[in-house]
Amino acid sequence: MTTHDAIVIGAGPNGLVAANHLADKGWSVLVLEAQTEVGGAVKSDRELHPDFVQDTFSAFYPLAEASTTIRSFGLEDHGLTWVHAPAVLGHPTPDGSWAILHRDREITARLFDAAHPGDGAAWLELCGLWDRIGDQMVRALLSPFPPVKNGLGALSKLRSVGGLDFVKMMLTPANEIVSSRFGGPGPGLIIAGNAGHADIPLNAPGSGLMGVLMSMLGQTVGFPVPQGGAGELAHSLRRRFESLGGEIRYSAEVTRIDVDNRRATGVRTADGERFAARHAIVADVVAPHLYGRMLSPDDLPVRTTSAMRKFDLDPSTVKVDWALSGPVPWASQPAYAPGTFHVADSVEQMTEAHGQVSARIIPAKPFMLAGQMTTSDPTRSPSGTESLWAYTHVPQHAVSDAGGDLTGTWDHDENERFADRMQARIEQLAPGFGSTIIERRVIGPREMEQRDANLIGGAINGGTSQLHQELIFRPVPGMGRSETPVHGLYLGSASAHPGGGVHGAPGMNAARAAITHARVRKITRGLLR
Ligand SMILES: Cc1cc2nc3c(=O)[nH]c(=O)nc-3n(C[C@H](O)[C@H](O)[C@H](O)COP(=O)(O)OP(=O)(O)OC[C@H]3O[C@@H](n4cnc5c(N)ncnc54)[C@H](O)[C@@H]3O)c2cc1C
Repeated sequence: MTTHDAIVIGAGPNGLVAANHLADKGWSVLVLEAQTEVGGAVKSDRELHPDFVQDTFSAFYPLAEASTTIRSFGLEDHGLTWVHAPAVLGHPTPDGSWAILHRDREITARLFDAAHPGDGAAWLELCGLWDRIGDQMVRALLSPFPPVKNGLGALSKLRSVGGLDFVKMMLTPANEIVSSRFGGPGPGLIIAGNAGHADIPLNAPGSGLMGVLMSMLGQTVGFPVPQGGAGELAHSLRRRFESLGGEIRYSAEVTRIDVDNRRATGVRTADGERFAARHAIVADVVAPHLYGRMLSPDDLPVRTTSAMRKFDLDPSTVKVDWALSGPVPWASQPAYAPGTFHVADSVEQMTEAHGQVSARIIPAKPFMLAGQMTTSDPTRSPSGTESLWAYTHVPQHAVSDAGGDLTGTWDHDENERFADRMQARIEQLAPGFGSTIIERRVIGPREMEQRDANLIGGAINGGTSQLHQELIFRPVPGMGRSETPVHGLYLGSASAHPGGGVHGAPGMNAARAAITHARVRKITRGLLR
């Protein structure tokens, strides 16, 4: 049995961030990854067509670009190049108009103002508020809870952005923020669409913060993509870790964490190997698997096991990838070609689709997030073609289908029929879309979980992002930090605060906690000697 200072279970972005930080501190670190490649939900492949790179899961990384942790790693020295589409985000509507978020805020404002005079100035005012407090807010959100230093930093800026009025705006549901600040449809489609990146209903608190955060990140850092495919981000983290002497083992699914006297001492893999950890085990593992499978109930307080029974997953997901022979034949061309685009007829229709998913109904007109990857990064497919994807959420356990007779079993036939429904949404906005398709791939909820065990039933964020499971309630009430009831074991996945998205915060928070505790143990042992 080999012994390392730390074992990291899972080589998703959070696991790789934790592994890098621990190796930076001089620890010997072993990463055990169940799949044959690093990345978790940050991967790319050429399965669909040899000439087309498809991002298997995630694709756009504003949170990585805004994360001081990921920036501090200098991944550009390990082969990462960020690239941007001409416009950050677009929202085409059935009447042929587009809402466009350009990285240059003056251009965004000009386009909004042309559609509704006054909206340009209102947009620039929102950007101005964000300039004053946005950096501090992002830092506070990505720090361990409670974010003492960064929280105080944000509080010190609060007066300059209007004090409690600003706090109130951030707590206001997305659809109310847009109706109170803007007259035309464009800003609303952008903010509400961005709120839809989390599973918070658009008429619930928390959605406004998400919508403003993502829109303002689009305005400040853009929605960058790694040149060559999403996997390049994970591989640059891997290369950096390996350059520090770190070791990764593949096809090494951890099935058990050994606990001795309430302290995690090592792990066992599915093929029976055992590995010992001197100081810490960081689990880049979704909370229900960590607490429900890898630890014995005897290793946990009853309050943890019973709280985990109430853990809420986020909704399921269906993703479709296309290799296209040409660009998407939009009915009307946008002023600037966007990398990301959203599909919904209106904010109201978006709200309806979200509501249906919450009510466990499969939407007839799914709200879709989509990406024109060759528009963002011309290396993704041959010149003149497009590598395209779209995903949408569906209920984890559907009770009915608003658009037909799907049952939510998500077998091959249901996946394909639902993908037809999604494709028809694009066809409506881009007549002739179907005739540009060379190949199509559907990744349904089951396939998602097969490719990454953390994506239980196609849940992409390690648990719901709704307020009742955020901050000190994540993953269960009273936790809110990476420490677990087992000493030396840290939860470093998206199931920990602050949740999903590629920013590395759960991984970094876990690694920092492990280092602090190891130092304290060393000092305590010295004092007791
Ligand atoms: C379809 C989709 C689209 C998304 N789009 C975006 C986006 O555009 N931008 C964005 O910022 N975020 C996006 N996300 C969310 C983001 O990808 C995740 O929040 C993020 O990857 C979570 O990182 P993680 O390291 O916690 O877990 P994961 O990325 O899920 O990685 C977990 C890793 O642990 C491994 N593992 C699990 N269990 C074990 C075990 N028992 N033993 C060994 N290894 C194990 C898995 O194989 C996997 O490699 C998307 C996610 C999905 C699925």
